[in-house]
Amino acid sequence: MKSWDTVAIPTLASGVDVLPLYLTNSRSGHKELVPTKPSYRMYVCGITPYDATHLGHAATYLTFDLINRYLRAQGAEVNYVQNITDIDDPLLERAKRDGVDWTDLAHSQIKLFANDMFNLRVIPPAHYIGAVDSIPLVVKSIEDLDKRGSIYPIGSDYYFSNSAESDFGALSHMSQSEMEAIFAERGGDPTLAGKIHSLDCLVWMSQREGEPGWPSPFGVGRPGWHIECTAIALEYLNPGSQESCLIDIQGGGSDLIFPHHEMCRSQARILTGKELAANYVHAGMIGLDGEKMSKSKGNLVLVSNLVANGVDPMAIRYALMGHHYRNDQMWSTELLDRAQSSLKRLRKAIAMNTVYESSGLIQIIIASLADDLNTPTVIAAIEEWVEKTLQGSIGGDVTAVRFSLDALLGLKL
Ligand code: ZN
Repeated sequence: MKSWDTVAIPTLASGVDVLPLYLTNSRSGHKELVPTKPSYRMYVCGITPYDATHLGHAATYLTFDLINRYLRAQGAEVNYVQNITDIDDPLLERAKRDGVDWTDLAHSQIKLFANDMFNLRVIPPAHYIGAVDSIPLVVKSIEDLDKRGSIYPIGSDYYFSNSAESDFGALSHMSQSEMEAIFAERGGDPTLAGKIHSLDCLVWMSQREGEPGWPSPFGVGRPGWHIECTAIALEYLNPGSQESCLIDIQGGGSDLIFPHHEMCRSQARILTGKELAANYVHAGMIGLDGEKMSKSKGNLVLVSNLVANGVDPMAIRYALMGHHYRNDQMWSTELLDRAQSSLKRLRKAIAMNTVYESSGLIQIIIASLADDLNTPTVIAAIEEWVEKTLQGSIGGDVTAVRFSLDALLGLKL
């Protein structure tokens, strides 16, 4: 599937030392070195196209864009893959509720999301893969699981049995009862009769009345969500790899740790005998005015609405970078107003002929990003530099600052 137009990335000034990157791995709970390599494989779970693009999405994709930019600044190539879950229960439910065709809804939301990502200057994925287009791939992965004895039917549906996977739960670090509760909350069916294990997940759902279906050896139906990501990640990121982990980074919002990423990890381990990702990275959730931002509460703030109301997409980026990616954050109008006024001052500083000493700023930006994407420190350093510049301090290279802010932070000024 076509993603969005590429985003130009300037080259950092020569002599800038790009430090090794450390990121918190959800599996260990610690900051871990991302070993320096010539190329990386990064998979970030994409949207289900029915409510794009709210600020929670924006925060997540911004986080992985910062990682993408940082690894590229080290001189590496990044094979970045993202899926689009363009067939799933929530999409069909929303289409039915609104009386629209589910494919029309998906196409319109995919287009909106791409436009939002381009406006936010998020580097597009190299492979942008829809679930519908991947059905043969997913069916092949289900067949491979079947050969390993990990699939069983319940009625005309098929489930993945994770009981053979000894390390299940090692990513989310939850008790059985916590996993069961969250599984039920997030679309799972822990109490369904006929299951071998309460946390086994659906991999192939037989066609329901009035819903779409595709032929397969498991009957006409459609894929489950978790196996979709597992199959796409293995196909596009791991052809013949000799490395001990299948990919370098698997990412998404923290609400994906369980069940989604735990299930993908388990399926990949059964399919290949290897760990899915060297590093599992998760971004916090975004709330609004003290409440969780959610579809059910109807309080989603959409990037497209903000931009249509005249908000500079760079101000959205700037505002989101004011907090650490791993922490949950409350969005507010005040937060956006502050970011807009800070961005205005930054633009004013960048437009000056003489600016404050810049190499120190660039090194702070790099050192902060290298330390688990510590963007609050980055923003504080930028604001101090802006203050000194506007006060008339000199000695810096404005082009080096402009290029660094663009290449590393995606801030086009
Ligand atoms: Zn996924």
